[in-house]
Amino acid sequence: MQIAVVGTGYVGLVTGVCLSEIGHDVTCVDIDEQKVERMRQGLSPIYEPGLDELMKANIDRGRLHFTTNHKEAFAGAKAIYIAVGTPQREDGQADLRFVEQVAIDIASNIENDVVVVTKSTVPVGTNERVQSIVREHLKEDYKVHSVSNPEFLREGSAVKDTFEGDRIVIGSNNEEAAALLEEINRPFGIEIFKTDIRSAEMIKYASNAFLATKISFINEIANLCEKLEADVEDVAAGMGLDDRIGSKFLKAGIGYGGSCFPKDTSALVQIASYVQHDFNLLKSVIQVNGEQQRMLVTKAKQRFGSLEGKRVAMLGLAFKPNTDDMREAASITLAHELVKEGATVVAYDPIAADNAKKLLPSETLYVESPDEAIAGADFAMIVTEWDQVKALTFHDYIEKMNEPIIFDGRNCYSLEQAAQHPVEYYSVGRKNIT
Ligand code: NAD
Repeated sequence: MQIAVVGTGYVGLVTGVCLSEIGHDVTCVDIDEQKVERMRQGLSPIYEPGLDELMKANIDRGRLHFTTNHKEAFAGAKAIYIAVGTPQREDGQADLRFVEQVAIDIASNIENDVVVVTKSTVPVGTNERVQSIVREHLKEDYKVHSVSNPEFLREGSAVKDTFEGDRIVIGSNNEEAAALLEEINRPFGIEIFKTDIRSAEMIKYASNAFLATKISFINEIANLCEKLEADVEDVAAGMGLDDRIGSKFLKAGIGYGGSCFPKDTSALVQIASYVQHDFNLLKSVIQVNGEQQRMLVTKAKQRFGSLEGKRVAMLGLAFKPNTDDMREAASITLAHELVKEGATVVAYDPIAADNAKKLLPSETLYVESPDEAIAGADFAMIVTEWDQVKALTFHDYIEKMNEPIIFDGRNCYSLEQAAQHPVEYYSVGRKNIT
């Protein structure tokens, strides 16, 4: 089937590439000319394991095309996917400017009936609005129906998630449109869950809000464990054995970041406020996360008193491993706090350093390896649990650092290991090794 995908970020590009892999003829359109030029050459503008190979293969098969021209992309397409950003506005709401612009682009450029599929995460009611905008701006009488098809992929395993996802949600108020989406997605062989448009939109926000809640919950438990001399790793393992709870998303750390949880939780608080609902639980989740992101600096200040003149190895910058995405990464908050306290930050990340340069303080120094980062450092902060970071041994810290003092925001090492070495090791929700 001929399909157009608007927006080639993490979601749009992965969607476009994977739809072409299952046999559809896909044209991806983006307003960013440089990006499109790169993609035409088979080069992905984002880092995502497995994406480059699939991109090249489907370009070669003639099933995957890139353009900056909406008319060209939409010509003959039965379905047009919207996968543009819905960033957070200053007041916490989702900014729908890009989505609304695409609705106008669709109305101005289509020459046949289409189903408009929204992959972007949008507040409840937006798909209906998209359908109205398209219909209002149409010059000819084409049939246009909206379908909500929220995206659940995770950066870092986006391709795998697309082929092995837990469910595909199709929200539609029109049977024909829903049937078309089912037909498109059937080759993935993933369970399809059909519902109405508004429920589908809510499923996405509710899912992200629930996962964020699980993370803030275990982080609060971790903070309590530290005070009560319990071990959060054991507590989480013991809780996770209960099927009703499950073991996933019970990893204590320095909070969630990324392009989704922070903005989607804030947006849901706003969505609730439109209907005079005070979502207190979610507000607390957000507040706990903000405090958790700063936690390593708080601990360092408790240890040293002043951080003035300290050289800090910041190990990992991306909000999680296997991605170059720096949006809302804890490293941003931490680096700014450290610089404010008078410390020098020496940062290492295998993939995200270029993106980080736009967001971290200008004083930050960047190095090419974890060893270079810890060389001569007064203390180290483990921010992202990249394999390259976890490969550092306590011997490396002892040998290379000024003093082997480690603040581990991701619990990368066992306490038994730490206790066998002359290091100071502070982790999350566990006993300090000093
Ligand atoms: P992104 O910012 O990485 O990419 C958006 C792309 O859209 C950019 O390349 C931009 O140039 C392009 N664009 C903007 N306006 C356009 C227009 N009028 N025509 C053509 N292209 C246009 O965004 P993303 O991270 O892929 O997220 C997209 C949506 O998916 C968001 O709503 C997000 O919440 C949601 N989502 C993201 C993830 C994730 O892990 N990143 C997961 C699930 C859902």
